[in-house]
Amino acid sequence: MSDVKTVTKSVEQKFADRGIRLTRRRRQVLDVLMSADAALSAYDIAELCNAGSESHMPTMSVYRILDLLQEEQFIHRLETANKYVSCSHIACAHEHSGSQFLICDGCRRVEEIQLSPEAVGAVEMAANAVGFASISPQLEVKGLCVDCQPERI
Ligand SMILES: [Zn+2]
Ligand SMILES: [Zn+2]
Ligand SMILES: [Zn+2]
Repeated sequence: MSDVKTVTKSVEQKFADRGIRLTRRRRQVLDVLMSADAALSAYDIAELCNAGSESHMPTMSVYRILDLLQEEQFIHRLETANKYVSCSHIACAHEHSGSQFLICDGCRRVEEIQLSPEAVGAVEMAANAVGFASISPQLEVKGLCVDCQPERI
């Protein structure tokens, strides 16, 4: 596990372009998230990084790395669950701002989607109407993914 090189060339290039060093630990955290099927907590990530590795990664380091990766939008934090997922546009050249997440109640898989600016605007308007200010446009929606839906007869 410790030697898996799943971080792609395009991701490496993004780090280089932004002048961020892709250290062994950062790569390890990113690898764990990129190969995960579900969102992971910082604790899960630390455990996976340390499994089968002789060098121990303290949870504090994991948190620091997660903060950096999140700031750079390589990963996202699901705020309601306090778990992390790798960005589904991690290898894309385009920028993206504001993501919404569909979280499967069955297998815990997370799908990252982008709502139209109109849809986000509608949420903001409804929030403003009841006096909410500066809301986070990140929505986390629960449901069942294609694989977990009972077969329709
Ligand atoms: Zn993303
Ligand atoms: Zn993309
Ligand atoms: Zn599912």
